[in-house]
Amino acid sequence: MDIKLDSYIDVIPGIGERKKLIYNRLNIFTIRDILNHYPLRYEDRRMFKRLSEIRQEEMVSIKGIIQSFEIKKPKQGMTLIKVTIRDGYDIGELTFFNNKYISNKLITGRTIKAYGKAKREFGKVRMTSPDFEFDSSRLKTGCIYPVYPLTRGLSNDEILKVLKLIINEINMESLEYLDGELREKLKLCGLGDAIKNIHFPKDPILIKIAKYRLVFDEFFILHLGLKVVKGITEIEKGISFKNQSKLLDFIKNLPFKLTDAQEKVVKEILSDMKRPVPMQRLVQGDVGSGKTIVAFISLYNSYLNGYQGAMMAPTEILAKQHYESAKEIFCELGLTIHLLTGSTTKKQKELIYKSIRDGECDILIGTHALIEDKVDFKNLGIVITDEQHRFGVRQRGKLLGKSDFTPDMIVMTATPIPRTLALIVHGDLDISIIDQMPSGRKPIKTYAVEKKKRNDVYSFAAKEIDKGRQIYVVCPLIEENEKMDLKSAQDLYESLKSNYLKDYEIGLLHGKMKAKEKQEIMDSFLEGSIDVLVSTTVIEVGINVPNASVMIIEDSQRFGLSQLHQLRGRVGRGEYQSYCVLVYVGKNEVTKERIKTMVSTNDGFEISQKDLILRGQGELFGTRQHGIPEFKLADISKHQSVLKLAQQIGDEIIENDPKLERKENSTMKTELKLRMTQINGIIIN
Ligand code: ADP
Ligand code: MG
Repeated sequence: MDIKLDSYIDVIPGIGERKKLIYNRLNIFTIRDILNHYPLRYEDRRMFKRLSEIRQEEMVSIKGIIQSFEIKKPKQGMTLIKVTIRDGYDIGELTFFNNKYISNKLITGRTIKAYGKAKREFGKVRMTSPDFEFDSSRLKTGCIYPVYPLTRGLSNDEILKVLKLIINEINMESLEYLDGELREKLKLCGLGDAIKNIHFPKDPILIKIAKYRLVFDEFFILHLGLKVVKGITEIEKGISFKNQSKLLDFIKNLPFKLTDAQEKVVKEILSDMKRPVPMQRLVQGDVGSGKTIVAFISLYNSYLNGYQGAMMAPTEILAKQHYESAKEIFCELGLTIHLLTGSTTKKQKELIYKSIRDGECDILIGTHALIEDKVDFKNLGIVITDEQHRFGVRQRGKLLGKSDFTPDMIVMTATPIPRTLALIVHGDLDISIIDQMPSGRKPIKTYAVEKKKRNDVYSFAAKEIDKGRQIYVVCPLIEENEKMDLKSAQDLYESLKSNYLKDYEIGLLHGKMKAKEKQEIMDSFLEGSIDVLVSTTVIEVGINVPNASVMIIEDSQRFGLSQLHQLRGRVGRGEYQSYCVLVYVGKNEVTKERIKTMVSTNDGFEISQKDLILRGQGELFGTRQHGIPEFKLADISKHQSVLKLAQQIGDEIIENDPKLERKENSTMKTELKLRMTQINGIIIN
């Protein structure tokens, strides 16, 4: 048998075509994958108890000599096996149903061991359908027994046997990729031992030690990988933008003064742009902190240096909004700005493509239509995207076109997260934070109202409309059922129209509408001809209507914290006191905790931290969306200190050897390459 880490699992005897597919359902393809299929939990089966000492209903391991056995067929299709065992002077009885396997193995005088729930009946210890094994085998009894995530057609015992075989067959020492000195310093056990002990621990303390190593590894590999990727970008040729006095005039002439935080971030960006290295920067800022203007300043700097710029938004509505603001801000400066989205007509598109190719278009704003093959920039200087559309190395290559220079890149995020967490999600980027709101803003007041008191909410809303304000009403997206989703928004719309808010203009916006219809509704809301905008979560990101002062969120218990915060950020964008009303039903703890958090703070960083704790990392970051592998054991909310350690060690290594070219780092690099190929678009040479 020749088993290698990266062999497919069907090298293992007994795993044929059918079994292979079953393993695949658990995302297990290679030997490495099955070694990384960790137990969900363990059962402590170490202690064998004498039959005489067993308590009623105890879960326990026992052993005895087979005294006798009988095989009966009480009815058609049923086989009943009774095995009498002896342990010293005591007698026990094991009962099995329809177990062909055991019936062939029973021999009187043979040792049988079993683990299960013991019952004392008629002076005998009995177990029904226990786990069992014979002779000196110690896979299921007298051990700490791992319990694995399973799928139909695959039993825990099968996994156990396969793992035992692999671990015996493979040289576990060879798994190690960290050098001994470093491991010693960090008090990490060997990787081979960690894997062995996570599956077959002799002692609970060994599980802890193994987990520590494996959690460290997950963080470490990801962080190192992101840093190497960052290093790769940094050796590409970038554009060195010169500082322009016109840029300062532009900033001076803005309708408002930049906040200190905006100024600091602009400074960071401009100094990055000056360096002949491609900028890779993440700008984090709470909703309403003024990220858009920072983007525009960067675009203008690129323009003043003779380059084109592109800005990509997650939705058409948002792209259009950015386009309108850009036209307004740049109107007297003679820039050519185009909008390219899915609903741009074919004819317009051709004209825009040409204008981009010829270099006539200075700034292109759009949705992902912006990175289609036909878009071919003459000299692209900077690309601004949002978090959802950050590019991997490959897509970036596509933007490069014929240019020898990699454009600068800024990623804007609408969900700010604390720095340590940002590093694990965006470790390949430099990070800027806008941690201040424009002055003069009145903090949004947030209230939680039970659904049965909804009347009050809408009569309050009516008063605000009478003062000249506008209102958002959001209902949740019901994911399993788009039709229902639509219905909930539509029902609400109807009931507001015929009842609560019948004297006002109400518009309805939902995901099923065509882009053009959506745009029309948005435009009327922006103009003020609609007082109330009822919508599903399509308005979540970025919409900017300063006159809107109330955000009512129906069934708010259905939303995650970060989402609620995003929604709340749609109001409080102008000079008026704004309100967010969370209408809710239900009294569960998470709901209460969420509502408490929302009412008590307006700080997006704090909220995302809390969200992380309440919902767990997977949901918060939508790991798949980010292309970041899901952690198996590591949990950023629980293992912050390990995370910091892994980041620190990774940084030290990269500082001394940015591309991992040194001989002592070669095994680490090999490991990294293997594990990072899982990350979308990241290939390390
Ligand atoms: P976000 O960070 O959520 O994208 P925006 O960029 O949309 O926020 O900015 C929100 C609002 O604040 C916009 O109306 C914008 O014009 C305004 N704004 C941005 N910066 C300032 C500032 N320094 N002073 C006053 N208003 C500002
Ligand atoms: Mg924005």
